[in-house]
Amino acid sequence: MSETIFDKIIRKEIPAEIVYEDDLSLAFKDINPQAPVHLLIIPKRRIATTNDIGLDDRELVGHLYHVAGKIAKEQGFAEDGYRLVMNCNNHGGQTVYHIHVHLLAGKPLGWPPYTDRLKV
Ligand code: 5GP
Repeated sequence: MSETIFDKIIRKEIPAEIVYEDDLSLAFKDINPQAPVHLLIIPKRRIATTNDIGLDDRELVGHLYHVAGKIAKEQGFAEDGYRLVMNCNNHGGQTVYHIHVHLLAGKPLGWPPYTDRLKV
């Protein structure tokens, strides 16, 4: 498994606006925000895609969602609400192959979230 840019952010080799860190996870501002608040919550141990989440990873992945709620409460948008998204592979729009929860907040968010209307 090859590294991504997120490993460099974890090791503080490249800068990021980190808003939360603990032994298991890191949260930082997305470099290309899609909402007034756009954070990425990542595990420090790389898992490439949601397809690769194993039984042993359940606690770690659950932890990312716990951190999301914690940040939402601390930053004051828990009651207004927010959106958590994990993209997977090409059709899901994944560009960095180190799983991450997008936390989007700060305004009412449209639904569905995509602009292309799929012909199914
Ligand atoms: P994905 O498209 O894989 O779901 O999300 C990857 C996200 O990482 C994108 O929203 C992109 O803007 C963000 N991103 C990519 N490179 C960097 C970086 O070097 N720093 C930060 N803070 N965000 C990044």
